[in-house]
Amino acid sequence: MMQQYVCVYCGAAGELAEEYVTAARETGRLIAQRGHVLVYGGGNRGLMGEVARTATELDGRVIGVIPRMLTDIEQAFSEANKLHISDGLRDRKSIMESYATGFLILPGGLGTLDELFEILTQKQLRTLSKPIVLVNTRGYYDPLVHLFEHIHKEGFVKAQYGKLYHVAPDPLSAIDYIEQYKPVPIESRF
Ligand code: AMP
Repeated sequence: MMQQYVCVYCGAAGELAEEYVTAARETGRLIAQRGHVLVYGGGNRGLMGEVARTATELDGRVIGVIPRMLTDIEQAFSEANKLHISDGLRDRKSIMESYATGFLILPGGLGTLDELFEILTQKQLRTLSKPIVLVNTRGYYDPLVHLFEHIHKEGFVKAQYGKLYHVAPDPLSAIDYIEQYKPVPIESRF
């Protein structure tokens, strides 16, 4: 099986329902135990910290990418095998994208959505052909998927939007999906 560089986008917030924490730890565990590499935002807070600490505890390889101005407030994860200090939020995303062989999106806040939308729109424009999987813990992404359906129904996105992302119920099926993914042709939107 091919080694994957799994880019995980997820929340930095704390004090969440336990299911979110469990899913984050499960993601870190699977990445480590299957010999993949975790690529993530390099912080030690919230679900980001949970994924990274779990992967590290299980001897998984971890690459963190954190902007200079966030090294204190997001608590740069010094145990990462590699910690990139980026200039800002924009180059952080491009460094993470260049490592990634697939994207796994756990529940998160505005930062996570920003990161998700950047890769979704790139996939729509066919400048990115990697798997994008939303992990739908506690049905967290149901309202977003409804919004996507609405956007499609109203004609702002073509039917091909269904090929842009995949919704997985849990981290295990998300990792399985990334491992077996074959790029699919996306038709031009115009
Ligand atoms: P959140 O989902 O808001 O908890 O944030 C998750 C991560 O996304 C944090 O590490 C934020 O610093 C990061 N983030 C927030 N905005 C951006 C952005 N525009 N580009 C890249 N990362 C961001």
